[in-house]
Amino acid sequence: MEHATGSAVETPRQGVSTPEPPPAYRRLDGPVPVRHPPRLEDEARRVRGYLTQGSGALADILGAESPGLSALLVADEDWDGAPRDHERPYPPGLPYFTRSVEPPALVLPERLSPVFWPRTGALLPLAVWHELAHAFLLDREVVRMPVWLGEFVPQAASAAVARRVGVPMEEHLRRVDPNPGFTVRGLASPAGAGEQMKFQNLLLLFGVATLREFGEGFLGQIFRALWDERAVVGGARAEELLADALGPGGREWLRSRPEF
Ligand SMILES: [Zn+2]
Repeated sequence: MEHATGSAVETPRQGVSTPEPPPAYRRLDGPVPVRHPPRLEDEARRVRGYLTQGSGALADILGAESPGLSALLVADEDWDGAPRDHERPYPPGLPYFTRSVEPPALVLPERLSPVFWPRTGALLPLAVWHELAHAFLLDREVVRMPVWLGEFVPQAASAAVARRVGVPMEEHLRRVDPNPGFTVRGLASPAGAGEQMKFQNLLLLFGVATLREFGEGFLGQIFRALWDERAVVGGARAEELLADALGPGGREWLRSRPEF
């Protein structure tokens, strides 16, 4: 979510703060190991399950190896000390990805901020897979791109994982407002947290529609295209990259979409 500011595509490798989690934190092994405070053992197991499903599915969908990653499930009282790329802590309750530690880490709050919406059973796994998809993309150097494309990619990827592993999304999608009063390209930079959530939810609807129309193969195409891109991606180039990834009819279909 934090990445709706566009920072995800230019995250510096060298962080300004690399604090360790409190020593009392325990470690759950897995493809993405999870460190957690002892009292959050159950939540940590749930998150590890999502990470195991997500890393396997994304590696398969993208035809790419899983990046070396860890996850940190952070207690509310420890939030300000969590590793991050910037001096100031992120607002409480917002998951993020950071390369300020080695291996890079997904930092997940004890509780998602109330701004996360809709509150269904799909919300947490989708949020975890969204951050995981950022981590896959940022495993290689990526140039800057418009916010809508930088956030569309992880939203579509998280929906693709949900389809694969059988997390039902119908109720979640039904509760999303399909007409928030802007299009994904029309919103240069989401203002408040509420608008960012509407923006992300519109991207989720758009991602689900894209998967229905074209299947999941375009995801590997767009990841590879973004890894190959060398110059900053502007608006026209972003549309071209996505249309090419979709294949024949892609551009016309994009132009026909109300979200776009
Ligand atoms: Zn994001």
